[in-house]
Amino acid sequence: MAQTAAVIYGKQDIRIQKIAVTDPLSDEVQIKVAYNGICGSDIHEYQDGMDLAIHKHPLTNKCAPLVLGHEFAGTVVKLGEKVTSLKIGDRIAVEPIVACGRCHACLAGNYNLCERSIGKDNSAGFLGFCADGGLEEYCNVKEVFAHKLPQNFPLDLGALVEPASVAVQAVLRSKLQPGDDVLIQGAGPIGLFTLLVVKAAGAHRVIINDLSSQRLALADSLGADLTLQEKDPNLLTQKVNKFTSNQGVNIAFECAGFQTTLNGAINSVGKNGKVVVIALFGSIPSVDVRGLLKKGGSLLTSYGYANVFERTINIIDNHRDSFRKVITKKISLGHVVDQGLELLAKDKHQAKILVQLE
Ligand SMILES: [Zn+2]
Ligand SMILES: [Zn+2]
Repeated sequence: MAQTAAVIYGKQDIRIQKIAVTDPLSDEVQIKVAYNGICGSDIHEYQDGMDLAIHKHPLTNKCAPLVLGHEFAGTVVKLGEKVTSLKIGDRIAVEPIVACGRCHACLAGNYNLCERSIGKDNSAGFLGFCADGGLEEYCNVKEVFAHKLPQNFPLDLGALVEPASVAVQAVLRSKLQPGDDVLIQGAGPIGLFTLLVVKAAGAHRVIINDLSSQRLALADSLGADLTLQEKDPNLLTQKVNKFTSNQGVNIAFECAGFQTTLNGAINSVGKNGKVVVIALFGSIPSVDVRGLLKKGGSLLTSYGYANVFERTINIIDNHRDSFRKVITKKISLGHVVDQGLELLAKDKHQAKILVQLE
């Protein structure tokens, strides 16, 4: 049987083509993909070939051409022989991680930091980068990474579980407490998901800062208490201080990835405040350790996610309407490049674009 897929061959070379549907291995299930979200890392993979396996990946033994896509949800249509926890018809959000399951990091439960998941060519341990991903009609995934959704859970929201899990992991790492004030640097999808998750976790007031007025309008509709459009870190801190009666925020999430936004985050936390870095910086930033030290602050990072998908599913389930607002467009597979990757790279009205496969 043949199916249509978006296949990445390398930098700026994505082809919509027919490929064979293969049977799931014994520990896999076959998903009929309903939706696959497009994200910033897909744009880098497409524009620069970033993180794409060019040589055979150590864990999957695969390399480009590969099916693109790592944010997807669908329905189980076939079971591998050894699969026991899922049945045909189950709705699934896929955790697209490739990990060995045997190294120290994996055995400690930190499979997002698997020591064997990054290839010598820097290829990432994710479906869509070192194995076939979700931009195909039928995708085989490991049973352990196929997370069952509640039976009436909409599958477009299912495609948000992966990116929202990045925010959930960061909020868990921040140890946010009810009543905390929060600053979020960057109102892209991860910043917006962080906004929704900190609100769900009981944050008091959430300030979000971005240069795009379109993104701030979306943040406003998602319940941000103050939206700021401030490039200068010192002016940002003045505004944050004014809003918080000179206390600063308890936690600042850095979801933008620039030196100025990191400075603004560090400047804007109050005594014992925490800065949580989620963004992957394009260049190595310097950190004002002294400024942070003098207020007893801490700097944390949060990379990907591990063991959080069930929590994320529960949070989205309780806040379906808000999460749906982050979806700004649904497109067909044939338009993944022009109306997906290229549009997302230039149009700040877009937050999460989903490719609809069925
Ligand atoms: Zn992503
Ligand atoms: Zn490992």
